Amino acid sequence: MPKPATSRTRELIFGDLWEYDPAPETADPKLKSRYDLFINGKFTAPKSGQTFDTINPANEAKLAEIAVAGADDVDRAYKAADKAFTSTWSKLPGIERGKYIYRIARLLQDRAREFAVAETLDGGKPIKESRDFDVPMAAAHFFYHAGWADKLDYIAPGRRVQPLGVVGQVIPWNFPLLMMAWKIAPALAMGNTVVIKPAETTSITALKMGEIFQEAGLPPGVVNIVTGAGETGAAVVNHPLAKKIAFTGSTEVGKVIMKALAGTDKKLTLELGGKAANIIFDDAPLDQAVEGIVNGIFFNQGHVCCAGSRLLVQESIADEVLARLKRRIAVLRVGDPMDKNTDIGAINSREQLAKITRLVASGVKEGAEIHQPACKLPAKGFYFKPTVFSGVSMSHRIAREEIFGPVLSILTFRTVEEAIEKANNTAFGLSAGVWTDKGSRILKMSTELKAGVVWANTYNKFDPTSPFGGYKESGFGREGGRQGLLDYGQLVG
Ligand code: ADP
Repeated sequence: MPKPATSRTRELIFGDLWEYDPAPETADPKLKSRYDLFINGKFTAPKSGQTFDTINPANEAKLAEIAVAGADDVDRAYKAADKAFTSTWSKLPGIERGKYIYRIARLLQDRAREFAVAETLDGGKPIKESRDFDVPMAAAHFFYHAGWADKLDYIAPGRRVQPLGVVGQVIPWNFPLLMMAWKIAPALAMGNTVVIKPAETTSITALKMGEIFQEAGLPPGVVNIVTGAGETGAAVVNHPLAKKIAFTGSTEVGKVIMKALAGTDKKLTLELGGKAANIIFDDAPLDQAVEGIVNGIFFNQGHVCCAGSRLLVQESIADEVLARLKRRIAVLRVGDPMDKNTDIGAINSREQLAKITRLVASGVKEGAEIHQPACKLPAKGFYFKPTVFSGVSMSHRIAREEIFGPVLSILTFRTVEEAIEKANNTAFGLSAGVWTDKGSRILKMSTELKAGVVWANTYNKFDPTSPFGGYKESGFGREGGRQGLLDYGQLVG
């Protein structure tokens, strides 16, 4: 005879959230009311005089004005970077370059709370993520690459490696500071100089990094930060002084960039979209797997290119996994990203919220079964409930298109071969996850899955030493590790 449920189990079963006292983060993000471009070591007004507003997606309040860089501002940035490359940066011994990069890493650590709050206000991600993941990981990337700067003679045995020159970089809004660190740290360690453009909805932490470059005494022009939307991005990509373009963003814009660079001698690396499969076998440790699945798709509101947005579950455990997932999402806290208890914060922009809403409506229309908790969303700001779809088939749009939101589609499989076939049946190939007790199956899956990263019995784990990048329409080139660093150099001799 089952025991009557205690009040605690009843709450978990019925999905009512315990009342927590508010736990708002209080550190001062030290925001300015206006941010200018960072060119040649100084903050400078754009030639056009134009600015745009950046808002807090959690409540739609204006945070600051950001300068719009026109083609002539981008040209100034490239000229400063080119001068810095030839006159100082490429001439410095690696050990000296490394000292600057270490200094940047330490200064970022010193100001970690301030940066975490700024990142959360501007982008909408929960403070516990920006505080515990984005900022420490960004600092770790600078530390790791600082260590390489004086060891480049050992990076490709028997060969010498040289910097490329000025590198143009365009980054997205999902991990603004971390993507900047991924791009800048290896470029500087290799001896290149940089012109970088953050995404238009998340420019603040990039520009705060300008303050850190000044504090670190980085020679003027080594890193230049230009802000604006797609037009500014196109000016960065198409500038004749760029020797390499590194882009992270949508597959759609990645294709535009590839076409624009065809026939030029610029190097290119692209890190684009994904539609990762998290594959769970019937011998997997289920509690651990459910935590990993939740982390894989609801982490950062699903604003993750490698989000585990398709769950492939072995048919015999499909009902059990769905029941556990429904219980788990019922106790996720959605709301104010500045509250330390929040699990799912704000969607980055109104446009992104509209895209998620559209794709979820298509899932319902095409006949998949939708599961959402009863949680209340804040009246103002951009929010979306954690959503699970069961009964999804490969032909549904929600199984094929990148949603970039907290939406999980569950498909089933019977055999290992079917799991591999379904996981690889996508235009993308950035990442995948495998949950099983069998080591031999992990090895087989990681060999046969066409994905740049395969996590086994875990998900969304990152380390600066580990290369990250895609197959197929997820792009090419790697970021992180020796491979990522080599993408910023040329082998000579
Ligand atoms: P997402 O879907 O992640 O917003 P986008 O590809 O639209 O991805 O944006 C990623 C970055 O690319 C942003 O910094 C954006 O301003 C920039 N961008 C958009 N259009 C272009 C373009 N035509 N050329 C270069 N950069 C662009």
